[in-house]
Amino acid sequence: NLTQRLSRVVKTIRGEARITEANVADMLREVRLALLEADVALPVVREFTARVKDKALGQEVVGSLSPGQALVGVVHKELAALMGPGAVGLNLAVQPPAVVLMAGLQGAGKTTTTAKLAKWLIERQKKKVLTVSCDVYRPAAIAQLQTVSQQAGAEFLPSSPDEKPLDIAKRAIAHARAHHIDVLLVDTAGRLAVDAEMMREIADLHAALAPIETLFVVDAMQGQDALATARAFHDALPLTGIVLTKLDGDARGGAALSVHHVTGAPVKFAGVSEKIDGLEAFDPTRMADRILGMGDVVALVEEAQRSVDIQAAQKLAQKVKSGEQFDLNDFLMQLQQMNKMGGLQSLMDKLPAEMQARAGQADMDKASRDVRRMQGIICSMTPQERRKPDLIKASRKRRIATGAGVQVQDVNRMLGQFEQMRDMMKKMKGGKLFKMMQRMGG
Ligand code: GDP
Ligand code: MG
Repeated sequence: NLTQRLSRVVKTIRGEARITEANVADMLREVRLALLEADVALPVVREFTARVKDKALGQEVVGSLSPGQALVGVVHKELAALMGPGAVGLNLAVQPPAVVLMAGLQGAGKTTTTAKLAKWLIERQKKKVLTVSCDVYRPAAIAQLQTVSQQAGAEFLPSSPDEKPLDIAKRAIAHARAHHIDVLLVDTAGRLAVDAEMMREIADLHAALAPIETLFVVDAMQGQDALATARAFHDALPLTGIVLTKLDGDARGGAALSVHHVTGAPVKFAGVSEKIDGLEAFDPTRMADRILGMGDVVALVEEAQRSVDIQAAQKLAQKVKSGEQFDLNDFLMQLQQMNKMGGLQSLMDKLPAEMQARAGQADMDKASRDVRRMQGIICSMTPQERRKPDLIKASRKRRIATGAGVQVQDVNRMLGQFEQMRDMMKKMKGGKLFKMMQRMGG
């Protein structure tokens, strides 16, 4: 995925202060591949990476972020922005009945989504909803809509395979008017692939119904093909919104980007289960997370962190090997690493069993406070004191304690712990130490 890819590139350019033409090229290639893998269509990917490059170039890389991480940030933000404002909802601002026309290929989820929308409108917006099916080619499809409409608590207008879709549509409008229906949801037929006859039929339906919303329902699992399908529907109908279904599957969601790009229509809803309540307002940020595998971006940051730690551990191991003294600078580095690695609790699990048993009775919160206090104490020492802890006698201890805002006995305890650690280090061969530190780093 993108994260793994980027982390490889990130390694080679760590330490650079800004995103430059040179280092952005490699990263953008990885972004491009990752987006393709997430089913974003190629032309969309091209345009998108060009835009990201514009935004990213010359951007200062703040704090401890690497250029790679900063770029992931830009990509994420742009992805979300590209998918529109999110949470648009249905436009129902017309003289009732507001007509919603469902369009899409067979199996996209039109019938299911019709019922989901009915439930949504009834429960959240207290609307009086009527559903009708114009899918005269499959009698089972009409029965299916009836079943799910009943589950949704919507009124259902029966239709028959003997009727023409246009006649059903006109009858439905008349019925809705007569019965003071707020929203009329019109389910339609779909073919397995786009064909001219289907497009003509739905265009005719559109003309007869004059819907306020024409929703293009598209299966997220359709992946790369979603682009061509969207284009065909967009050419035939003025689409007002997109419903992306089956996001509970393992689709990466790139179709959202492609379909929005082609149609210009906002993605309004996401289908997240086959159940009737499996509908969510579309959230661009979450979709960008999904496309990028944001959970993994966190992992990326951690990995970058960890490799820094491993470098430090390597240095330390080298030092021990070469017979240099383990000093308070090294001890401080270890303490800092403990903090970085998510505190003592997570560290505990990685310690050798014997040390775990000893630390096991300790109150972890207190232990974390102790670690911070020890860091504070070491930071109050002069460089010379850190290198040669044996210099630290009573008067220095008082000065250090005052500087760190602790008692002299805290300084003594810290020094005791340092000595324990130093003894342990002495007994260890460099290689073994390195392995242990690696384990601590995960
Ligand atoms: P239509 O041919 O466009 O009307 O599609 P259907 O509504 O009949 O849906 C086709 C299949 O997809 C059915 O088995 C649905 O249960 C399933 N389905 C629709 N939407 C979702 C969704 O969001 N998640 C899951 N898991 N399945 C869905
Ligand atoms: Mg159907």
